[in-house]
Amino acid sequence: MIQLRHHPMELRLRHTFRLARGDSDVRQNLIVELEHDGLVGLGEAAPIARYGQDQASAARAVELMVERFNEQNSDPRHYALAAERVAVEGEPSATAAFDMALRDLAGKRLGAPLYELMGVDSTAMPVTSFTIGMDDPETVVAKVREASQFDVLKVKMGSAGDRAVIEAVRSVSDQPLRVDANEGWTLEEAGSHLAWLADQGVELVEQPLPAGQIEEMRQLRAASPLPLFADESVGVASDIPKLAGAFDGINIKLMKCGGIGEAMRMIATARAHGMKVMLGCMVESSLAITAAAHLSPLIDYADLDGNLLTVNDPFVGATVKAGRLVLPSGPGLGVERISTVDE
Ligand code: MG
Repeated sequence: MIQLRHHPMELRLRHTFRLARGDSDVRQNLIVELEHDGLVGLGEAAPIARYGQDQASAARAVELMVERFNEQNSDPRHYALAAERVAVEGEPSATAAFDMALRDLAGKRLGAPLYELMGVDSTAMPVTSFTIGMDDPETVVAKVREASQFDVLKVKMGSAGDRAVIEAVRSVSDQPLRVDANEGWTLEEAGSHLAWLADQGVELVEQPLPAGQIEEMRQLRAASPLPLFADESVGVASDIPKLAGAFDGINIKLMKCGGIGEAMRMIATARAHGMKVMLGCMVESSLAITAAAHLSPLIDYADLDGNLLTVNDPFVGATVKAGRLVLPSGPGLGVERISTVDE
């Protein structure tokens, strides 16, 4: 039997987060603790409002998952398929929390960092991009100056002020840029923006068109001067085959796919289709970011800055040194709690 505890966690954002879909100042996430044999595995859910999830629905889902797990007399050492066996439909962030907590527990039981269990090279960590949200040009310039330790910036676009944001960044920085349109463009707008962005030192563009427009994406990609990555168009591995030819790569997020197990299947599926892999995040504490960072030696582009956008992260885990992710060396996820918030 595993014992469950869960706690609400309100993360406050350093800057109001402006997206094509709307603004926000706080995020309501959920901390999950799974206890077994005197050890506690930690997980975090960052529910995604766009898909009808919230803190309460994630809490109910994780309760149900633990109930199912215990009813099946499952052994927490068998974590590889555990999360998908008990997953609650429509609640992948809860599934991700359960999955990472079981993996944390497994590492703690063996006294080994999770990256050793996974067999990934923790010295082969990628640089991570830092997100500059949409804002007026003066604020964008201030944010870019704050982010000077990052080698790559990710710029959110999709609103009417699109090009002004990039121009503001370029007025103070020649760092490589990645652009995320968050489904904000039409096919015509996208064609024109891509040609212009290619001249601005942009290395890739994420989700230019609405999620369902796969045929339009094929047309756009055929003439695109830049690699195009799917985010909202992809959730799990089975979504990937139909995207081959429409996108150059996919953005994997634990909160959309349901955990490290499914993320590894997505990496394999993308590779089988000749696609590149980016690893992204929601606004998350260092707990979920550290879980995702364990996959980063396996991928091409990391965008794991969700914890850095908050002012009250209660955990310490993966960090960023000289723009590059660094994994902690403790057992399991290696995450330590440094403060108690909003319980
Ligand atoms: Mg995105």
